[in-house]
Amino acid sequence: ANALIWFRRDLRLDDNPALQAALRAGQSPLCVYIHAPEEEAPWAPGAATQAWLHRSLLALDADLRARGSRLVIRRGDSLAELEKLIAETQAEALHWNRLYEPASIARDTRIKQGLKSRGLTVESHNAALLVEPWTVQTGSGDPYRVFTPFWKNARQRLDPQAPPAAPARLPEPPPRLAGLDVADLQLEPRKPEPRWDTGFWDDWQPGEAGAAEMLEVFLDGAASGYKEQRNYPDRIATSKLSPHLHFGEISPRRIVAAVLARRWPAAVQPDIDHFLSELGWREFSHHLLFHFPHTASENLNPKFDRFRWAKPDADHLRAWQRGRTGVPIVDAGMRELWHTGWMHNRVRMVVASFLTKNLRYHWKHGADWFWDTLVDADLANNTQGWQWTAGTGADAAPYFRIFSMISQAEKFDPAGKYIRRWVPELAKLPDSALAAPWEQPALLRQLAPAYPGRPIVDLKASREAALAAYSGAKA
Ligand code: FAD
Repeated sequence: ANALIWFRRDLRLDDNPALQAALRAGQSPLCVYIHAPEEEAPWAPGAATQAWLHRSLLALDADLRARGSRLVIRRGDSLAELEKLIAETQAEALHWNRLYEPASIARDTRIKQGLKSRGLTVESHNAALLVEPWTVQTGSGDPYRVFTPFWKNARQRLDPQAPPAAPARLPEPPPRLAGLDVADLQLEPRKPEPRWDTGFWDDWQPGEAGAAEMLEVFLDGAASGYKEQRNYPDRIATSKLSPHLHFGEISPRRIVAAVLARRWPAAVQPDIDHFLSELGWREFSHHLLFHFPHTASENLNPKFDRFRWAKPDADHLRAWQRGRTGVPIVDAGMRELWHTGWMHNRVRMVVASFLTKNLRYHWKHGADWFWDTLVDADLANNTQGWQWTAGTGADAAPYFRIFSMISQAEKFDPAGKYIRRWVPELAKLPDSALAAPWEQPALLRQLAPAYPGRPIVDLKASREAALAAYSGAKA
């Protein structure tokens, strides 16, 4: 019997539970992808994730072809396309791996009910998470809102066993079964010229092979020392697995099994624990989005619903987006994002703090920009990251701990390598002037005339104003 495997954000053959379930049941799996971004509204993929998706689908199709199969691509209403595919292939079963965004859950529930009532076997599986959000509860049976106890609980369930690998061969879909080419989906940026994504692909190889390689490189190298080094944005010190994880090109179970299979020296164990706990933050973000689905657009902490955010000034918002705020560490981060589709975690917190505390703009303005420009834009992680930094979320940074843009730069980019790389017009300034160049105006004018002479907002005054506003909100 034929079974449809409906691929969504599980773009891999390794540890793919939907695929494995069909094979276990003796079914003949046919791999399909249906392009229906409007079904994810208001969180249809942004421009950068679309560009990634284009390459990831090409990679998946190539991986399937290497095994004798291919990816059947359709576009349109998912239910209608699945019904057509079922009729065309006489499939008796449909398998997919779960998504956790509210719009996808609603759609998938509707599809499952619709097709099951017509006698089809419809099964969903977990490919994306180490622990399903509904399986982890506090002692009183509630969802967690604080990370540490969540992870303490979830961590005990990690499975050290290696999950099933990709099948060596897969059956060929019927030759008559029509499908689109990946290019027909028009996911790649066409405007403006020159294309904004040209700098992306030096660093990234979308698809399963690229993800597996990233993991190996990380485990052989930066994993040792991760806990400390992960804070320095100019170093290659983190795994850069986030876009691969977002698209399901690698499974978190595979990562955990690979980590636990190695014998780490005792001195490295804290690094390994810390890395696992970052995967734990990803789990926690999904836990929160699943249990509090309104938080993708609303504050988790309702005390902030009446908080007086500033009305965004279009020029200032634009200056933040394009890295022209006059605060070097912020500008470096925003330009890294624009040029590579990724930004270092420490700097994400810094630029988010600048937007929500110094400019006091609602975190939604920042989350929207990240949504469009990050190759790892992920509703659960992005929402959690922004709400945490803004202080409106779970386990949020205490309101009185407002990042200082100057000491963050001094501490985490002491030799100014990161700033010089992304803000080259500051390259000639001495290290001592890089964190706060406006404090040495003559030097700035002389050595970096193209850079803004002062920040778009006074850092000290805006910090004090934010403190006052936040302490009011907490009261
Ligand atoms: P590593 O340090 O190698 O961590 C391994 C994996 O753990 C990551 O790939 C990621 O899946 C997960 N992870 C690490 N840190 C976090 C975290 N703080 N929260 C949740 N998961 C984490 N991450 C996204 O994947 N998508 C987003 O849209 C996103 N938006 C963010 C917005 C803001 C304002 C902030 C402060 C953080 C955001 N993050 C987001 C979290 C984090 O910055 C990235 O996951 C991380 O920088 C990715 O780099 P890496 O793969 O090298 O991470």
